[in-house]
Amino acid sequence: MTEYSSIFKAQRDYFLSGATRSYDFRKKQLKKLRSMLQDHEQDLLDALYKDMRKPGFEAYSSELGFVYNEINHALRQLSRWMEPIPATAPLTVFPSKAKVIREPLGVVLIVAPWNYPVNLLITPLIGAMAAGNCAVLKPSELVPATSSLLARMFSENFAPDYINVVEGDGAEVVPRLMEHRFDHVFFTGSIPVGRKIYEMAARQLIPATLELGGKSPCIVDEKVDLAVAAKRIIWGKTWNAGQTCIAPDYLLVQENIKTKLIIAMQQAITDLLGQNVQESGDYARIINEKHFDRLITYLNDGKIVWGGQHDKQDLFIAPTLLTRVDLDMPVMQEEIFGPILPVLSFKDKEEALGIIRQRPFPLSCYIFTKNTAFERFFVEQLSFGGGCINNTLVHLVNTNMPFGGVGYSGLGKYHGKYSFETFSHYKSITKTGTWLDVKLKYAPYKEKLSWL
Ligand code: NAD
Repeated sequence: MTEYSSIFKAQRDYFLSGATRSYDFRKKQLKKLRSMLQDHEQDLLDALYKDMRKPGFEAYSSELGFVYNEINHALRQLSRWMEPIPATAPLTVFPSKAKVIREPLGVVLIVAPWNYPVNLLITPLIGAMAAGNCAVLKPSELVPATSSLLARMFSENFAPDYINVVEGDGAEVVPRLMEHRFDHVFFTGSIPVGRKIYEMAARQLIPATLELGGKSPCIVDEKVDLAVAAKRIIWGKTWNAGQTCIAPDYLLVQENIKTKLIIAMQQAITDLLGQNVQESGDYARIINEKHFDRLITYLNDGKIVWGGQHDKQDLFIAPTLLTRVDLDMPVMQEEIFGPILPVLSFKDKEEALGIIRQRPFPLSCYIFTKNTAFERFFVEQLSFGGGCINNTLVHLVNTNMPFGGVGYSGLGKYHGKYSFETFSHYKSITKTGTWLDVKLKYAPYKEKLSWL
């Protein structure tokens, strides 16, 4: 027994009371969640600024706006999602009717990372609430202002036996939480920690969703609108200072346009963030000194053709373009998770495919081209979580599409109805009439196969 036993037991009892199951309860709680966030909008933006200098526009759109969109979508769709799904019953079970009931799993654990600490804690929670579950939330300790604010907000607005926030060092807190048999664990974070979560879950056969990271390629064909491509790539790489799981990690550009694209990207950096990026109010900081030091070592890999300025006191690293990068350098072996973009070239699409396949199963893939055969080649040949043609990041914001990785980049999916499905059990029920009792299935079987 741990100090978390009482939290877990209270949630288990509350779930078993049936209180969270009804449509009215779920709808009311989702509305309450929305009002709670609206009431604390400025507090949240301030906390995100304090933790990582997240620019207000980025914080609003990628954290709050994103979450509102998910809540509103869930509120609109909830009654439809909750309806039983009729199924045709085969003649062999005549006279029967069949249906699939979607029911809550029970008490779920949601573990979130630091880079989008509001979004990545609350978006899965929306699915868990919509599906009628109780939830324990574990925000990241690397964003203490946001984490403690969220803990206070939830404790003031929700009963702890329904939603409870547990703060603290993940390596210490999560294993103790997971001594309890949660009905689902939803983890967003790094591959090494994801593996540990999966091992802990396996011991008690707890189903797990793992939203992980990896190296997401961005491929640029020679037939492309260079200025637009450059701007969209730089936007995706500098949003949250590159600390985005789906940021373009490295660039593969057709050899004959490499120089032109680099010039266009230099221009895009200046257009978006000014001559002196450190003075821009629209650029986040690196989360902490440990990640700053890790990122700085990548500047020794290859040649800096733009950027490279950094300031440890300010946790600032300028958007940086690197060339002459070898595939075996650390910057091409590890997930960068910062504003450094290695630019590699390829002669033909088969060469690009070979490079990407050395780092399998990216979370995202971005393809810039006007050539549909080029586009189709990569969409069909590569296995990746999701992506965009002629854009970056934006596939994430569509509540009608699932979001999740494949292979090393993750397991499972969410957003919109896919979140509801993740946190629901699909229970199949067959109801048979008693007015007729077909004898075929009963022993004695005797000659019953004689017609074969
Ligand atoms: P992380 O794996 O270090 O931490 C994530 C969470 O796990 C935190 O709450 C942390 O407290 C907890 N944790 C840390 N060590 C633990 C341990 N030993 N046992 C149990 N729990 C532990 O990840 P991070 O640094 O917060 O986030 C960055 C990573 O997350 C990147 O790899 C990025 O790609 C990935 N990410 C993925 C997505 C996605 O949607 N796929 C989104 C954002 C970030």
